[in-house]
Amino acid sequence: MKIVLTGYRGTGKSSVGRALASLLRLPFIDTDEEIEEREHRSIGEIFRNEGEAYFRRREREVIRALRDKEGVIATGGGVVLDPENVEHLRAHGDIFLLYASERTIRERIMNSDRPPLTDLGFEGEVSALLERRKIHYLSAADFCINTDEGTVEEICHGIRRITMEGSTGISERERALRFRVFQGLPPAEMDALETALLRPPRQTVRLCAIAGYPVRHSKSPHLYMHLFQRYSLNYHYTRLEDPEISRIMQCFGELDMRGLSVTIPFKKAVIGYLDEVSREAEEIGAVNTVIQCGGRRYGFNTDWVGVREPLRGHSGERAVVIGAGGAAAAAAYAALSLGMDVHILNRTIGRAKELAARLGCSSGSLDDLESISAGVIVNATPVGMNGEDRTPVKPDCLRKGMTIFDLVYTPPDTHLIRIARKKGCETIAGTEMFVHQAVEQFRLFTGIRVTPDSVREYLT
Ligand code: NAP
Repeated sequence: MKIVLTGYRGTGKSSVGRALASLLRLPFIDTDEEIEEREHRSIGEIFRNEGEAYFRRREREVIRALRDKEGVIATGGGVVLDPENVEHLRAHGDIFLLYASERTIRERIMNSDRPPLTDLGFEGEVSALLERRKIHYLSAADFCINTDEGTVEEICHGIRRITMEGSTGISERERALRFRVFQGLPPAEMDALETALLRPPRQTVRLCAIAGYPVRHSKSPHLYMHLFQRYSLNYHYTRLEDPEISRIMQCFGELDMRGLSVTIPFKKAVIGYLDEVSREAEEIGAVNTVIQCGGRRYGFNTDWVGVREPLRGHSGERAVVIGAGGAAAAAAYAALSLGMDVHILNRTIGRAKELAARLGCSSGSLDDLESISAGVIVNATPVGMNGEDRTPVKPDCLRKGMTIFDLVYTPPDTHLIRIARKKGCETIAGTEMFVHQAVEQFRLFTGIRVTPDSVREYLT
């Protein structure tokens, strides 16, 4: 058994870790102590004499060496900032995030002799680092444990119970399996879900799903199940399909699920069920990724990352986004983040105007395309889906040297992409958006960074 305790300094990793190891009769390993032993000097001295970058390198070596070790491992507070560390810690193990209020943390570490990591002063540093690391902690954690209250012994018993029973009991799991959201699952997927929840090799199995209506053709379960297997994660991915988002979110809560990939038609509606929403998701007005930790739900948008990454080489150019729905909002947000001059053109001009005003860019009708000399055109409408021979862009508007990004990905080789290629344009298929948004979503679910190529590999 491998149990990893992570979290900020002062959240109780060492004291809880030592007591938990003794309760479970497992060896206790403190990564900071391992580093001190290897270096024959204290962490403080290493920081003062060699600097943080040197310390992080040594820390990475220690974490790598612990990959297949059994025991209770307490990590340093900054370990999870490095996705490679998270990958090693996660392999065959469960990660518990210990957290406490800022006030408790300050009280617990105020007499520590550790050198500061910033020049923000004691209180400023605690606030800033907690904020900066928050997403890394949440992503790396399978379970979140509040150590503000309760004795070390009580916290250890709580963790032991989760390792033995999971965070939900078998009877809740049995009941949830009868929920309507699972009724449309094909028999093989239902069997796999039942096995994962009721007869898992480890009770700590974490569940993720695509949530939408409909979702039966989604490629996400195939992709994520392969990725979970590749990184030896005790995770299962399924589908939650229902016309009512309330039923989906009820199941999400009752099963204490880990994460959701949210799709049509719930990207806006899901916001009402969340405790916190990232700044990007709020500005775009849509959430496509939810993670749950310690009973709190956090929403993110990774669609815009899926458009930004393929367009990285086009900073500063003029971009036209066609459409004014959720995909267009993510595309325009991505183009603006790259410093592009963005024009949103839509069939219904009022919607283009509204979106452009919200994001701070220009708008117009589809006819305006002819008069804008665009370097990049993004199709964010469904026109061209399912092999239809139509495009929202008149072929006369396409010129050699332009970049055409068609977000439609069923099929990837759309009518627009074919015409653009013939005209000598650079083309980017909609699958690239899916690939890059999935890289980011997987990082949010697990704290592990996969390469775009490994996602592409499982999509074919
Ligand atoms: P949406 O919110 O329904 O918006 C659709 C937009 O397309 C609206 O602006 C609509 O204009 C416009 N439109 C629809 N039919 C049209 C037509 N015949 N001619 C001109 N404009 C038309 O949909 P969405 O969520 O933004 O998604 C749009 C498309 O993006 C999807 O169909 C999908 O193919 C693609 N997408 C791809 C990915 C990916 O990972 N590659 C992710 C998400 C979405 P009105 O305002 O006038 O109705």
